[in-house]
Amino acid sequence: MQAELGHLLRDKLKDSCDRNADRAVRRAYRLVLLGAPGVGKGTQAELLMERFGACHLSTGDIFRAARNRPAAELAPGMVTALEFMRRGELVPDDIVVRVVSECTEQLTCPHGFLLDGFPRTVAQAEALKGILARHALRLDAVLDYELPREQILRRISGRRLCSRCGISYHVESRRPKVSGFCDNCGGTVIQRDDDRPEAVLVRLETYACQTAPLISYYRKEGILVTVECGETPEETFARSLVGLRSLAGE
Ligand SMILES: [Zn+2]
Repeated sequence: MQAELGHLLRDKLKDSCDRNADRAVRRAYRLVLLGAPGVGKGTQAELLMERFGACHLSTGDIFRAARNRPAAELAPGMVTALEFMRRGELVPDDIVVRVVSECTEQLTCPHGFLLDGFPRTVAQAEALKGILARHALRLDAVLDYELPREQILRRISGRRLCSRCGISYHVESRRPKVSGFCDNCGGTVIQRDDDRPEAVLVRLETYACQTAPLISYYRKEGILVTVECGETPEETFARSLVGLRSLAGE
């Protein structure tokens, strides 16, 4: 009898413990990811998705995927957005907002979502707040990945690409066995114009100008989590989790 009670108690304790652990790890996060090109935001998105099971809502990916689908399958906002893109024009703010608002399935995903590439302006951030409010939802946090400029520059300007098969290399961490030639296909290994230091500096400057108002907006909202990128993606990921927990007061 005594032993049985002990078992019961232990099971009960274990049960509630599992549930707590579950809640800590598996709670639904609705997040926006910010970070300059080269900070490794894509990898962080993958790690966060793996951990939380959240939907990844990357506007870049959404636009790319939509181009290959018949117009009849697309929501009206997306059709309009693609018309702008076909003409080589920038998609206006309100159309991007419409496209995001049409992603109801991802926005209401019970495991949360990761927004990447949106919002880019304070106006879009305000619009996002409105869209979420219509679903009785709100953002939990905005993860802002920071890395010193010199390090971003080193990461991006060190990138090399095989001109034939597209495999990527890096002058510091992943060099081809024979300098200048691809290990995989023997093609010439080149640097993309976009990855040259002078181009990277322009991209970083544009990003900083565009994002600074967004960062202060979310800081005022009290949901900004600044993550200093670590040496490895895992280190950065661990810091993201610490930041999220401390924001939630855990
Ligand atoms: Zn190659």
